[in-house]
Amino acid sequence: MAPIIASKVFASIDSLCSPPDKASPSPKTICSLTFNCFANVDSTKVERIAHICCGYPDKLDAVNYPKAPLDSYKKIANALDASLIDSVSLEDAHRYNDLELLRNFTKTKVIFGLIKIASSQKETEEEIENRVLDALNYIDKQQLIAAPDCGLGHLPRQLAIEKLKIMVDVAKKF
Ligand SMILES: [Zn+2]
Repeated sequence: MAPIIASKVFASIDSLCSPPDKASPSPKTICSLTFNCFANVDSTKVERIAHICCGYPDKLDAVNYPKAPLDSYKKIANALDASLIDSVSLEDAHRYNDLELLRNFTKTKVIFGLIKIASSQKETEEEIENRVLDALNYIDKQQLIAAPDCGLGHLPRQLAIEKLKIMVDVAKKF
């Protein structure tokens, strides 16, 4: 994932100002460059959120679509937490993370993916509840926000509603 972000950062910098050093930037540099767009945003009025995908399929129920390596979030988690974003939106449902990852977010809220956005199979309440309980071993409840992994564009409307309802019913238990 970092190389993908880096290439996008380079692209935007290339188009706006002088070319950056071609050496591979650190995660901290990537985050500070990427989130400069929030620099003058009043955080008392606006929630500054970054959503980070590990890969998006081209159709519903696609299998083995390209994804970033599983440890990609971990590599940039500390830099994300030190950046000026308030919340980070991460995928977890389609491919479980090592939840130790959540310990890296000491102040940043985590919008935690609990719904697979490319699967027509509905998650069960038990499945989602167990994942939330597991996550709460690593992060405070006040920092954890239930969400789908990503956009719901592949899901038929009714199925998307049904999946969201299951997630919300679970979230209300906490
Ligand atoms: Zn996404």
